Amino acid sequence: MGWKERKANRKKIASERIKELLEFSKIHIRDNDLSTSSIKTAVAISKRHKIRITSKFKRSFCKKCFTVFIPGKTVRIRIGKGKVTFTCLKCGHIKRIPYTKEKKYLKKVKVESEN
Ligand SMILES: [Zn+2]
Repeated sequence: MGWKERKANRKKIASERIKELLEFSKIHIRDNDLSTSSIKTAVAISKRHKIRITSKFKRSFCKKCFTVFIPGKTVRIRIGKGKVTFTCLKCGHIKRIPYTKEKKYLKKVKVESEN
């Protein structure tokens, strides 16, 4: 097996591990320490292997403190003018995303209106 194939194989294993860790964090969403540490590990692996975490997953945790977002509990979601604001209730980190991209996602979660 050449190095290119070996590298591809390692990447495959790494991305499977990331998927497992993210699933794990969802299962243990009520256990903050457990879910946060599995997200941290997943992000570390993704950086080491230069694997992108899907945007769907990226939205589900805080980039700064790695807390799993539970709408109304660990995150406050507000819709403003053309954008959605995610405020992490653990560390106060604010993330803004254009509304159009989030429409589908927001249908599923409880959202506070800006007015
Ligand atoms: Zn945070």
